[in-house]
Amino acid sequence: MHQYCCHCGQRSLSYGIPEGDTHPRKYCNACGLIYYDNPRVIAGAIIEQEGRLLLCQRGIPPRVGTWTLPAGFMERGESVEEAAYREVWEETGINAEILSPYSIFSVPPTNELYIIYRARLKEWKDTPGHETLAVKWFNAEDIPWPDIFYPAIRQILERYIDEHAGGTYGIYTGSMETGTVHFMR
Ligand code: ZN
Repeated sequence: MHQYCCHCGQRSLSYGIPEGDTHPRKYCNACGLIYYDNPRVIAGAIIEQEGRLLLCQRGIPPRVGTWTLPAGFMERGESVEEAAYREVWEETGINAEILSPYSIFSVPPTNELYIIYRARLKEWKDTPGHETLAVKWFNAEDIPWPDIFYPAIRQILERYIDEHAGGTYGIYTGSMETGTVHFMR
C-alpha cells in the first residue's frame, strides 16, 4: 500500500488485523490510526396516497428504467428520518410525512443497511431530480412487477399491499429475505 496517512502524513499504511482487533482493516503503522470502513445506511420511504404507492424510475446506472422506492445514502450530520425525507424530496419533489419504520434489512454482501419508512404525501410541488426519469403513483394492480429489480423492494411492496387491506402495519427486521415481521399491538 503506497498511500499517505491522512492523519500523520507518513507513507505507512498497512492492511491487516490491528493488534487487539477482530477484523482486517487499513491502518497506519506510524500513528496507529485505524481507517474503519463500516456498512453504509440507505434510507428511503414507501409513500401512500389514498391506496396508491409512489415509485421512481431510475435515470442513472445501474439499471436505468427500472422502478424502485425513493432511497439513498445517509449523509453525515443527519438523522435517518431526515435522510429518508431528503431522499424522497430530492428524487421525487414530494414533501412527505415520515410515519414509522417499516423495513430494516441488512445486505451483508454489499455492506449496506436499508431503513425504509412508511410515509404519506403532504405536498407535491417540485419535479423529480436528475437521478429520476419519472415518478408515478400506482394502484396495487398496476405495479410494474417485472421492472422492479430488487427482490427486497418487491417484498416491501407486496407486504404493504397485504397489510393495507387490514390497516395494521408491522415492522420487518432481518437480512435480505430471511427476517421477521413484528407487529405491535
Ligand atoms: Zn498515521
